[in-house]
Amino acid sequence: MDKLLPWQQPHWSALQQRIMQQRIPHALLLHGPQGSGKGAFARLLSQRLLCSQPTESSGGLACGHCPSCKLFQAGTHPDYYPLVPDEGKYVLAVERVREMVVQFAFTPQCSGRKVVSINPAESMNNHSANSLLKTLEEPPGEAVMILVSHTPARLLATIRSRCQQIAFPTPPREMALAWLEETLDNPAEADAVLQLAEGAPLSALLLNEPSLMEHYQQMGRELIQLLEGRGNLIQIGLRWSKQACEAAVSLRWLQQWVVALIKNEPQTGAVVSEPLSSMLPLMQGVDRRKLFLFYDKVAEAIALSTTAVNKELLFDGLLLDWSKFR
Ligand SMILES: [Zn+2]
Repeated sequence: MDKLLPWQQPHWSALQQRIMQQRIPHALLLHGPQGSGKGAFARLLSQRLLCSQPTESSGGLACGHCPSCKLFQAGTHPDYYPLVPDEGKYVLAVERVREMVVQFAFTPQCSGRKVVSINPAESMNNHSANSLLKTLEEPPGEAVMILVSHTPARLLATIRSRCQQIAFPTPPREMALAWLEETLDNPAEADAVLQLAEGAPLSALLLNEPSLMEHYQQMGRELIQLLEGRGNLIQIGLRWSKQACEAAVSLRWLQQWVVALIKNEPQTGAVVSEPLSSMLPLMQGVDRRKLFLFYDKVAEAIALSTTAVNKELLFDGLLLDWSKFR
């Protein structure tokens, strides 16, 4: 994704103006729900800040062909430090942050400034975050640090307060829908996937995978089986935990169903409505208060799912509670 998304234009223009006036903040915190495009925005901004001849005609985007852009695209730019957790890890290792801090003190080698991006910023534990604080407060020379966060509440207050915060909410539905219809191979699905992704267009794009849609329908069938006293919750938990998608994706769907069950309202859209329409009659006698308690548990599980918690046990616990709605 190397194009500016249509709903990001106002943020881009405002920052562009500040870059031109040489008033770009040294530390930015881009925050908003997952799938709103802030990671892609951070990457475009990083490349722009390092580019030697940004193009006026395209609103100040990086040119894409200067030596700096070539290095950036190849992932070898010496003045760019994208920090992410090591593969298979949830925590950004403190060593990665310390290495960056040391390197950051030298003058830029290729561009006029240095750029760090940390995504997601909540992957920093207290050690990593504390190692970053001083550099965040007084970056050496010309430097910009871009933090990207889905859950800024989980960042240390001292980190948040040192950054200029920019919110990336999910875009207006009409705008997201128009973009999806243009982007998807099967535009007829746009409405359904956008709904499943709770309005986050980039998540909706990922959900358009046939295997994910199948997982969604299968989840619905399994939950119905449990309500009917069939199905093995251990096997179901195991299947959910083996999905290629993040655990939070399955959990958010479960949450959406619970919300609809609390409201006692069917969802709209052919793809999304099917499991729920079978659940509703089975749940008629259930005490609403129990559904509220279950909702809280699912929300807690979503927060836990981005940690090293055992996903299978997390699902098993919820499925056990769900099976009691029978
Ligand atoms: Zn360039």
